[in-house]
Amino acid sequence: MTSNSIVIVGGGHSGAQLCASLAELGQGSRIHLVCEEPVLPYQRPPLSKAFFKKAGESAQSIRAASWYEQQGIQVHLGDPVKSVDPDKHIVQLSSGQTLSYAHLVLATGTRARQLPSLPTNLDNVHTLRTAQDANHLRAALESVKRVTFIGGGFIGLELAATLQSLGKHVTVLESQPRLLSRAVSAELSAHVLSTHQAAGLDVRMESQIKGFEFESHRVTRIELANENLEVECVVLGIGAEPEDALARQIGLTCEQGIVVDAHMKTSHSHIWAVGDCTRFPWTNDMTTLRLESVQNANDQARVAAQSIMGQMVSYQPVPWFWSEQGSMRLQMVGLMPQLPHVAQTVRRPFTAPAQPASGENAGFSLFHYQGERLVCVETVNAPMEHMMARKILEQGLSPSPSAVADTATPLKNWLT
Ligand SMILES: Cc1cc2nc3c(=O)[nH]c(=O)nc-3n(C[C@H](O)[C@H](O)[C@H](O)COP(=O)(O)OP(=O)(O)OC[C@H]3O[C@@H](n4cnc5c(N)ncnc54)[C@H](O)[C@@H]3O)c2cc1C
Repeated sequence: MTSNSIVIVGGGHSGAQLCASLAELGQGSRIHLVCEEPVLPYQRPPLSKAFFKKAGESAQSIRAASWYEQQGIQVHLGDPVKSVDPDKHIVQLSSGQTLSYAHLVLATGTRARQLPSLPTNLDNVHTLRTAQDANHLRAALESVKRVTFIGGGFIGLELAATLQSLGKHVTVLESQPRLLSRAVSAELSAHVLSTHQAAGLDVRMESQIKGFEFESHRVTRIELANENLEVECVVLGIGAEPEDALARQIGLTCEQGIVVDAHMKTSHSHIWAVGDCTRFPWTNDMTTLRLESVQNANDQARVAAQSIMGQMVSYQPVPWFWSEQGSMRLQMVGLMPQLPHVAQTVRRPFTAPAQPASGENAGFSLFHYQGERLVCVETVNAPMEHMMARKILEQGLSPSPSAVADTATPLKNWLT
């Protein structure tokens, strides 16, 4: 008998949203949600923020167990998919259970990137992707005064600022000349660096690691160009790789991510993919893109749900992202053009009465233009400006550089 099940592999943000979107379309009882982790889908962003600030904090489920039950969704916890037979439409779980499907959706996310020169499974080296990682790290931190971060990306900087606020001595080793260099403008990188340094964070730019010293399953020293740094606890924050092992085993096209079309369909009919693990067409300049954000995970899941149901909508995002680092709330909308394509950047101070006019918490926005077109807006401590900028870009509007520089005119005046 042919199955009409929809099997979702991966209980992260996109897997959870796909359940919700399919349930809204009346398809809950067709769904099997297969989770590698032993817990229901939970909010990942707080793991580098609030989680460490509140003693005893646990990961917050996106939806309660009763919600899945009410929708008729069958959830398989702690039982990852081991293999897929795409011809027979069957997945095998690690427990040996098999599920047949009409549609299979890969929502497998990413895995933390490892440093080839650093053995895995050292007792004092941590990465942060899952609630289990966060619990391990929190337990380790009880007996640790100094924490050394390798890599100054979003997750590393968020966690570094959090741990510093808890009284840890934190050092961040960044190999590049600027922080967050792949994701934000040079001006924002400089602001982030100076704010962290002013708050006392020891951030060392262009730190090239020459080697490590080890003792009984621990790294004890990091050899830098000019010194040997003693370390107690190391957090590796050098980015993430798409989790495409299953996709490759099936024979799906993968190019630094599972390749999907605008409807989230992979190279195999009846197999879809959503979230951090995908590489999708970026219509603006005929290239492809892989994003790691909650917005991308949720919106791709909504598109996939409709596509599976035969309403072939396309994913055409205006991407947005946020990061909380110490006193800074950073928000970005659009995509930062790579040099030499940035035509102009306009800095717009945020002048709401409640906002301090100066100092490290003062808000501002950076409006980036490619040619005549507004393509990206970065804001610092200016959430309302971010919301307006999002609406402006979503409506395809492009106020001129001189218009956005005029702080007397609220951004909402540009909305139609
Ligand atoms: C600490 C941290 C902080 C973050 N902060 C922000 C933020 O501030 N803002 C923001 O926009 N984004 C943030 N992100 C990124 C955001 O969480 C991700 O973009 C989002 O979780 C992607 O959703 P996803 O469903 O694609 O993948 P994930 O949420 O990573 O879920 C993938 C799931 O698939 C499971 N899986 C993999 N293989 C299998 C298999 N074979 N069988 C079964 N299950 C499998 C994994 O175990 C995992 O549970 C943060 C991420 C982390 C880790």
